[in-house]
Amino acid sequence: MASVEEHVEQEILQADNGAAGTAEAPAADAIQVENPATGEIVGTVPDLDAEAVAQMAARARDAQPQWQAYGFEGRARVLVRAQKWLMDNAQRVTETIVSETGKTYEDANLAEIGYAGNAFGFWAKEGPRYLADEHVKSSQILVKGKRLVLRYQPLGLIGVIGPWNYPLTNSFGDCIPALMAGNSVILKPSEVTPLTSLLMAEGLRECGLPEGVLQIATGRGATGAALIEHVDMIMFTGSTRTGTKVAEAAARRLIPASLELGGKDPMIVLADADLERAANFAAYFSMQNAGQTCISIERVYVEEPVYDEFVAKVSEKVRALRVGNPDGGFGTVEVGAITFPPQLDTIKDHVDDAVQKGARVLTGGQQVPGAGRFFEPTVLVDVDHSMKCMTEETFGPTLPIMKVADADEAVRLANDSPYGLGASVFSRDAERGEAIARRLEAGAANVNDAMINYTVLELPMGGAKASGLGSRHGAGGIRKYCSQQAIVVTAKLAMKKELFMYPYKSRTSRMLAGALKLLYGRGKRD
Ligand code: NDP
Repeated sequence: MASVEEHVEQEILQADNGAAGTAEAPAADAIQVENPATGEIVGTVPDLDAEAVAQMAARARDAQPQWQAYGFEGRARVLVRAQKWLMDNAQRVTETIVSETGKTYEDANLAEIGYAGNAFGFWAKEGPRYLADEHVKSSQILVKGKRLVLRYQPLGLIGVIGPWNYPLTNSFGDCIPALMAGNSVILKPSEVTPLTSLLMAEGLRECGLPEGVLQIATGRGATGAALIEHVDMIMFTGSTRTGTKVAEAAARRLIPASLELGGKDPMIVLADADLERAANFAAYFSMQNAGQTCISIERVYVEEPVYDEFVAKVSEKVRALRVGNPDGGFGTVEVGAITFPPQLDTIKDHVDDAVQKGARVLTGGQQVPGAGRFFEPTVLVDVDHSMKCMTEETFGPTLPIMKVADADEAVRLANDSPYGLGASVFSRDAERGEAIARRLEAGAANVNDAMINYTVLELPMGGAKASGLGSRHGAGGIRKYCSQQAIVVTAKLAMKKELFMYPYKSRTSRMLAGALKLLYGRGKRD
C-alpha cells in the first residue's frame, strides 16, 4: 500500500501549499485513516479549515472557464481516459477502498470499480445529449415564428459531500456528471474514507484534467459546512440528520441542494414467489457490503403460507457466510468490516432491542471477537414495528423477517416508514408484482430483483419522504448541475410594433379580446 501512502503525503503537501499564501496558516490537524478490518492506520490527511476551503474555491473558480471551454468533446475525452485509467489501476484503487472501508474485494470491485467504470463512459457519451440545446414548440400564439431554445449552462462550482460506505461510487460518482457538465468540483469525502477520492483525483490529473477543476477537501463535518458557503450547488449523500443541516445551510444561501439520504428498504415476498431466488436475493442484498448500503434490504415481509420455508432457506444461506478480514483478496470472505465505529453500536442496539421485545435470533447476533470491527451476519424473526430493527436504519449485516397475512398488510407495513428509498417485490406473477411495486412509497422499486436500478444510469435514483430531495442519474442527474436559460429569438423581419402595444385603441383591444375568446373559449362546458 506504499503507493497510497506516498500519494496521501503528496496531497497533504499540496493542501498545505495551497493554503500557504494566507496571513495565517490554516489549522491542518491530521486525520488518521484506519483500516476497520485490522485497526491499522493506513493514511493521514489534513483536516482543512474554512480558510483552506475558501482558497480551494478561489482556485476552482479560476479553473472553471477553461474547463467549460473544453466543450463536451474535450471533457468527454478526459473522462474516457479516466475510465481506462481506472481499469488499468483497478487493483490499486480496489486495495485503497478495501484498506479504508474494510469491505470485501468483491464489494469494492463490483459495486465501486464497476459503477465508476460505467459512469465515466456513460456521462461522457450521454452528457452532451442530456445537455444539448432543446428547440421548443409552443402553442402560445404570440410566439409563432420565433425560435424558442432551452439551454443548459454549468452552474460554476459544485460542492459534493460524501459518506463512508462507498467512497468511489457515492461521492466520487457524483463528481463525474458535475465535471462533464463543465463545472469545477470540490469534493469533501467522509473523514473516515478520504483516500479513495485523493487517489481518483490524482488519476484524473494524470488523464489531463486541468489543475483546480477537481479538488478534494479532506476534513470533518466543519469542512463540509464551510464548503457549502462557497459553492453554487451542493450534492450531499449521507444521513437524513446531516442532510437536513445541509439543506438549511443551502437555503440560507439560496443555492440548490440535492440530497441522497438514509433508507429502510422493504422486501415483500408473496406466496407465489420463486422462493429460492427470493431467499438468495434477501441473503445477498442484506449482507452485501456488510449491510452498509443505503438501498440494502433492511426488512422483509413474507406472506404466511411461505414464511417458514423462506425463513429456513434464508437462515441456511446466511449461516454459511464467512465474515472477517478481507485482506486475502477475492474469495476470502463474504462479509467484511463495519467501516464507521459508531455504526457497530447502532447495529448491536437494534439487535438487543429486538431480542428484549421478543424477537428470536436464528443466526448471528453478536460482534465478532478479536481484531477489527465485524458483526455476525444475523437473521431475526418474530419481529414487529415496535422494534428499531424494523423502523430505523440499521446499516449493518442484519435481516429481520416478518410474517404477514397478505399483500395488503405487506404494503401497509412497507409504507409505515419515514424513509422511501428503494423496495422490492417477489412474485411469479410479474404483473401483480408491478402493481404492488406501484403502491410502495419508494423512489425505486424492483420486481423479482433488488438494487439493480442503481446500476441503470439512465433511470433516476432518488428517495421519497425522508430519503432525500432530487435524484442522481438520468437526464436530471446532470441537468441539476446546470442552470437553465430560456432563449426566445425573434427574426430580423419582424414587425416594427406588436398589435398589443401602445397606444391602446378600443378597436384593436376588442379584436384581441375576441381572439382570446376564440382561442380559449371554444368547446363544450361541463
Ligand atoms: P453523515 O451524514 O454522517 O455524513 C455524510 C457527510 O457529511 C460526511 O462527509 C460528513 O463528514 C459530512 N458532514 C457532517 N456534518 C456536516 C455538516 N454540518 N455540514 C456538511 N457536511 C457535514 O453520513 P455517513 O457518512 O454516516 O453515511 C451514512 C448515511 O448515508 C446512511 O444514512 C446512508 O443511508 C446514507 N447514504 C445514502 C445514499 C443514497 O444514495 N441515498 C447512499 C449512501 C449512503 P464527516 O464524515 O467528516 O463527519
